[in-house]
Amino acid sequence: MSGANTNLPTVKERANEALKDDFLRKAVRFTTERLRHGKKTASELLGNWEEWRERGRQIRLHTIAHLDYYLNLFADNARANGVHVHFAETATDAVRIALSIAKNHEARTVVKSKSMVTEELHLNQELKKIGVEAIEADLGEYIIQLAGEMPSHIIIPAIHKNRFQIAELLSEVAGEKLSADTKILAGFVRKKLREKFLEADIGMTGCNFAIAETGSMVLFENEGNARMVSTLPRVQITLMGMERIIPSWADLEVMATLLPRSATGQKLTVYMSGITGPRRKEDGDGPEEMHIIIVDNGRSLQLGDPEFQELLNCIRCGACLNACPVYRHIGGHAYGGPYSGPIGAVLTPALKKNVAEWDDIANASSLCGACYEACPVKIPLHEMLVYLRRRKVEAGHGQAAEGMAMKGFGAVMGNARRYRLALKLGRIGQKLVVRDGGIRAKIGPLKGWNKYRIAPSIAKETFQERWRTLEQEIRVEPNETSRSAEARLKQVLQERSSKGGHLHG
Ligand code: SF4
Repeated sequence: MSGANTNLPTVKERANEALKDDFLRKAVRFTTERLRHGKKTASELLGNWEEWRERGRQIRLHTIAHLDYYLNLFADNARANGVHVHFAETATDAVRIALSIAKNHEARTVVKSKSMVTEELHLNQELKKIGVEAIEADLGEYIIQLAGEMPSHIIIPAIHKNRFQIAELLSEVAGEKLSADTKILAGFVRKKLREKFLEADIGMTGCNFAIAETGSMVLFENEGNARMVSTLPRVQITLMGMERIIPSWADLEVMATLLPRSATGQKLTVYMSGITGPRRKEDGDGPEEMHIIIVDNGRSLQLGDPEFQELLNCIRCGACLNACPVYRHIGGHAYGGPYSGPIGAVLTPALKKNVAEWDDIANASSLCGACYEACPVKIPLHEMLVYLRRRKVEAGHGQAAEGMAMKGFGAVMGNARRYRLALKLGRIGQKLVVRDGGIRAKIGPLKGWNKYRIAPSIAKETFQERWRTLEQEIRVEPNETSRSAEARLKQVLQERSSKGGHLHG
């Protein structure tokens, strides 16, 4: 793996660090397992999950194919509702717009609900530079802000921390030792944040979905902090990626069915807020002034690209992270950007535009396709990872040895005789390295692989060889009744099974 910026650790180096951290691995595995189980149960209870997935995919495909139309419709309707709509082509533009709003209002503090776009823009750090304190109001985000870290999961930013570590962080804020009881810790943060909500000059939110037909924004959350952020401060700024659009409220029904189930296994998120403009005369609360910053920052580069356009269909549920065997081992920080897991491995290079700098991240995948199976809008992330690897090679960032190995592999796999010969030679050669049924040697290309696992040895028989033998053993004799043939087949299979010879190779 290589990276153009040699000062930054590569994914491989960061992954090695993560693999040494037993607690992180256990914590990530425990939570992702729980989320996967929740998703499975919730989707089974709903029924027709595949049909819902397909409906979700069709809505996203249609919207992104007509993104310019729906974005303009959304912006026109939002303006008619009294919202100031800003388009930001780059991260710099988005930051400049947000900072100028903060300066115009002489803001000192900003309270924020969870927003991955603001992570992408490093907005908290930029606000700090002009003397504005940004306070994260989502519990997980608040914890990692105190720890000075990036989120390690799209929906559970502090997935890698346990309650004892959290108690330590919060005790510093409290100025006294807090018990590691989760109720006490949550109660402390709730009280602390109430003061911040009341004091803040600006409330800043992300946006799960923007409804084009009415110019409304919809926020999904479980803690109620987004409601506080969008209700109490006098000014509200919402930052949204330009792909967050859906055409109508009817489409939201499908998204509201898919997103919480895929993210946390919930039938419905605890709070779902629809916001259509600032406070009106008859309203009891809400901001007096509202801004929406629609961020491009590399997203439009994916439009019209047959290999990557579907990336814009993502609804940021995090299901692909929970399903990914690589993420479940190394957690989110190893990916090096705010977006981690399979979606991060594709989105980060795509948004950075600089394939060279991020070329090694696409290698952090086994290409098993579990991300695709988990994705509620059926984004073929595993295929995109292959395209990224191809781009890396085409851009001259591949390794010569890897290229030669792949050519050799292609030559063997493309010819049946060569394949059979290679298997025979492999079976002879592996005798030197096979111990207790597996290859454990940490040499050559096996060094990295065998550090944390055992490579399987080449089977004594291939599937085809076994099939041929079995076919002869169970051949139906002329005049043999089907019952007797069936009984003989059962007997052959039982004998093979007792000898440990399963049919699959
Ligand atoms: S790629 Fe699919 S599974 Fe992953 S976060 Fe996006 S919508 Fe969810």
